[in-house]
Amino acid sequence: MHANTLNFSAGPGALPATVLAQTRDAIVALPETGVSVLGMSHRSEWFLDILDEAERNIRSLLGLSDRYAVTFLQGGSSLLFATVPMNFATPAFAPPEYVISGYWSARASAEAGRVGEHRIAWDGQRTGFRELPALGQLDVDPRTAYLHYVSNETIEGLQFAAPVAAPGVPLIADMSSDFLSKPLAAERFSMIYAHAQKNLGPAGVTVALIDRELLERIPGGMPHILDFRTQVAHGSNYNTPPVFAIYVLTLITRWLRDDIGGLAAMQRINEAKAARLYDVLEEMGDVVTIHAKQPWRSRMNVAFTFGDARLDRAFLDAAKARGMSGLEGHRSLRGLRASLYNAVTPDAVEALCETLTEFALQHA
Ligand code: PMP
Repeated sequence: MHANTLNFSAGPGALPATVLAQTRDAIVALPETGVSVLGMSHRSEWFLDILDEAERNIRSLLGLSDRYAVTFLQGGSSLLFATVPMNFATPAFAPPEYVISGYWSARASAEAGRVGEHRIAWDGQRTGFRELPALGQLDVDPRTAYLHYVSNETIEGLQFAAPVAAPGVPLIADMSSDFLSKPLAAERFSMIYAHAQKNLGPAGVTVALIDRELLERIPGGMPHILDFRTQVAHGSNYNTPPVFAIYVLTLITRWLRDDIGGLAAMQRINEAKAARLYDVLEEMGDVVTIHAKQPWRSRMNVAFTFGDARLDRAFLDAAKARGMSGLEGHRSLRGLRASLYNAVTPDAVEALCETLTEFALQHA
């Protein structure tokens, strides 16, 4: 295996080899048009078909009904941290509520605080972001504009196994790091958003699924580019969209459907990869600490440490010598982190597990 197949980066992350080969060819000349994907007009028939297909494929992978608009946005998930409250935290409702379960949900909450009043429904900071609230445990005002949470905390490696229960309250989730990694009960949500650079493709596009009823709540007078209705009304083509990122995202949806066989199959593969890595780490006993507690451990991001910065660095060097990359922990938590996104193969995880086992025998 070479370095590209041993990419454990937290994002932008690994992409399937077949999609990379198609992308390489498309940069030179698209099979359909003979023109480079980088020079295709966003008003061309070809791109309008790609936009249609991207939406159709996402709908069919998720079994998503027409109750939801599917739209492709820019500005990353960070822009959504601001535009979600700008669009939906209206005075007709009680302030929005935020679950703070890690670095990214804290960022979302802080941004909502800059837009207006908001409430913290749960805060895991005191316990060091090692666990999540029970799914039905939150005390949420039934009149709230919405409840926001992050389904998978990319940095701490914490993941909700199922949607948070908030009956009668619009639920909005940032699913940037686990969208399309498993089947999803999308109808439990009023809005879901996810940037592409984990499981969906390169950076530059953020997918948003929005309940059309929620769109009705958006106040008038918002700048057009920040009002979700604008891109929905213009089929995600109001201004120049990221043609390249949306093209690669479309290739990924084909790969999920045709090569993997859908999201249930993807989930089985992802569960097996994560189980294998956690087992190996658990077998090491005290030598290694996994950041997240059971049963909240993420299938996508595994944050761990040998408990000593020099040992962590020595492991990174050992992994690098075997062609592995992207294993550094986030700058806020340090330590190590292996991201096991859709395109990370079981063989790559096996290679990581072998390196870990050998390293532990030598150094611990
Ligand atoms: N939410 C989550 C869960 C993330 O992991 C990240 C970044 N990795 C963000 C939001 C921020 O996304 P962006 O860089 O696209 O603004």
